[in-house]
Amino acid sequence: MTDNFTTTQTGTPVASDEFSLTVGSNGVTALHDRYLVEKLASFNRERTPERNPHAKGGGAFGEFEVTEDVSKYTRAAVFQPGAKAETLIRFSSVAGEQGSPDTWRDVRGFSLRFYTTEGNLDIVGNNTPTFFIRDGIKFPDFIHSQKRLGASGLRDADMQWDFWTLSPESAHQVTYLMGDRGLSNSWRELNGYGSHTYQWINAEGERFWVKYHFLSHQGVVRMDPAEAERIAGVDADYYRRDLYNAIEEGNFPKWDMYVQIMPYAEAKDYRFNPFDLTKTWSNKDYPRIKVGTFTLNRNPKNFFAEIEQAAFSPGNQVPGTDISPDKMLMARVFSYPDAQRHRIGTNYNQLPVNQPHATEVRNYMHQGNMQFLYNDADARVYAPNSYGGPAAEPARAGEGSWENDGELVRSAYALHAEDDDFGQAGTLYRDVFNDEEKARFLDTLVGQYGGLTVDRIKERFLQYWANVDADLADKIRARVGA
Ligand code: NDP
Repeated sequence: MTDNFTTTQTGTPVASDEFSLTVGSNGVTALHDRYLVEKLASFNRERTPERNPHAKGGGAFGEFEVTEDVSKYTRAAVFQPGAKAETLIRFSSVAGEQGSPDTWRDVRGFSLRFYTTEGNLDIVGNNTPTFFIRDGIKFPDFIHSQKRLGASGLRDADMQWDFWTLSPESAHQVTYLMGDRGLSNSWRELNGYGSHTYQWINAEGERFWVKYHFLSHQGVVRMDPAEAERIAGVDADYYRRDLYNAIEEGNFPKWDMYVQIMPYAEAKDYRFNPFDLTKTWSNKDYPRIKVGTFTLNRNPKNFFAEIEQAAFSPGNQVPGTDISPDKMLMARVFSYPDAQRHRIGTNYNQLPVNQPHATEVRNYMHQGNMQFLYNDADARVYAPNSYGGPAAEPARAGEGSWENDGELVRSAYALHAEDDDFGQAGTLYRDVFNDEEKARFLDTLVGQYGGLTVDRIKERFLQYWANVDADLADKIRARVGA
């Protein structure tokens, strides 16, 4: 006998790890072998549903430190000079399922959590400063177009390009995706962006619009497409392995956090709609301001418990930070917690990785599936109460607000002076890509065209790129003989 014996889930010793209970050595299995039944039942329930987009990923813990003074823009404790906070990051691919190869061309998720003294702050972005669409009502359609055909269960280039070319607001993000940054060398060697516009509020209550940028100390490094294909065949978990091994070896990756700050009143007349997720704010108009640095220095102890069950939401904001009237962001602050209630369960925020570390959770949501945090026996479970239970702070009522247009309508954003679907995509191609990158970009587009089988989609593909840049479209036509 040892002290280290196997037990049932309720802690009693089990008699065998290898033999189920049978009627004689060769006889039938007894249903009342409770350990066998419990073991199989547990196994059958090991998977939570995978995330719909961003199913394949990996992550690590780290530390954030503020090195500059941005206190005139936000009163958030986590961004005050010298503040430190534990962080969690999850990187991911958008389209593929859990086992899909890391090195398929895709946008990479960059979800960052700060465990702050005022609760959890999550910045749930990508390695792109923009996105494919600007209204959350199109999100399920967009993801369907990147996933699999209903009948055959196959991924399909026609379907992807059908959606993109019928959704011209995608052009900026698709240009970024088909460029060098659509195929990273590792998760360590990419920049992260909050992508959306958020809000900061300072101690005087003054509001600012803010964009988050996380610039990699490791540089932004591309992977050669042929090499990516080779790696996809031999090591589907290439990025996950790279991050894990780097941290195990003490080679801790770092990112500097920067913000672009727009005074509240300037949003109205900025040349681009600053809440349109398909647009960037020019660095020349709103130069980046450094905030601090975060370092990843600890691997999860358990991938499932701490990464698979990490439940981020862009709605997790703290005093001094908030959301903005970006229609995609407003849809996400509903959708992310809803997805986790479905995947993990009502009380998913009670899991250690999702609990705030330095604040207590105090409210009257006290039941639901898997509840294990509960109030004192004599605590009331309703507000208001006269027993000294927690009460909200009405002084916070105006925080995170903005003026709204009055009438309820279904319409596109009103256009600002330089708003269109293709302008910033053209700027990225012409002014940011260098000649070698332009050549690789052309190769990638020619390859994509080669995957199309439907004539009307081929024609729209060529028109889409002509709208981005006429000369680029001529080059594609010449290469594909169209
Ligand atoms: P800038 O010249 O000031 O900024 C261009 C930015 O492009 C750089 O800061 C860099 O972002 C990024 N970049 C560099 N190489 C590539 C590449 N191969 N693929 C994608 N992005 C790259 O100009 P503007 O700010 O006026 O922006 C011009 C265009 O640059 C925009 O239309 C947009 O497409 C693109 N861009 C703009 C960003 C922004 O937030 N303003 C961010 C990223 C791209 P970084 O330093 O973050 O790596």
